[in-house]
Amino acid sequence: MPHLNKKEILKKLYTLFDQQVESWDIACKRSCSVCCTDRIWMTTLEGQLIVEYLQSNNMLNLLDSMNIMLPKNRYHPKTTINREAVLSVQNESVPEPDEDNTFSPCPFLTNHECPIYPVRPMGCRAMVSTRPCQNEGFAEMSPLFMSVSNVFSQYIEHIDSNGYYGNFINILNLLTTSSDAMPIQHIMASEKLLVNQGIKYMMIPPEHRLQIAPILEKIRAMGKTAL
Ligand code: SF4
Repeated sequence: MPHLNKKEILKKLYTLFDQQVESWDIACKRSCSVCCTDRIWMTTLEGQLIVEYLQSNNMLNLLDSMNIMLPKNRYHPKTTINREAVLSVQNESVPEPDEDNTFSPCPFLTNHECPIYPVRPMGCRAMVSTRPCQNEGFAEMSPLFMSVSNVFSQYIEHIDSNGYYGNFINILNLLTTSSDAMPIQHIMASEKLLVNQGIKYMMIPPEHRLQIAPILEKIRAMGKTAL
């Protein structure tokens, strides 16, 4: 098979994940944007795909509202999923994200729809619920769905090893500001970002291994050199 670059693999991972979701019984409907907040985390590779999409569709103005949010408090991860897998195997405690419970709507959100839907990050794709979130105020997901989502998140971090992981506002600011032209913004954007890691252990509980095995096979077939 031809050698795929990281972005091509990322797009294939998104497609494969979306195909899995299609077979799940979920309550999510178009224009439901309850989960579209600034609590989204992603990798720099995912951010690069978004920036390219904004550029090629003349939508860079969407970054304006994102830049305004840079100085505000928001939810930041304290570890990446591949690091979390290592800590779990080593029986060490996993650091909790910042305890800030406030959140704002996603700055991209426009008329309850996502203008970057084809390239939305894995953090958004994985935000599905088996019951309408409006009823309980939170999403509900089966343990198997969570395991499948974790597998994809692990591979997405893996292919961007040595890239960064963090709140999508910080990642997009980092990718779109220059350290020479905008040193303060650049430092603010890079604050609280974590370095991605390759996969050392998969986060698949024994009871899900059989069902997830065919998905793993498809992922590994995507780009043997990168995965
Ligand atoms: S990027 Fe799109 S899908 Fe993700 S939170 Fe924002 S509007 Fe929602």
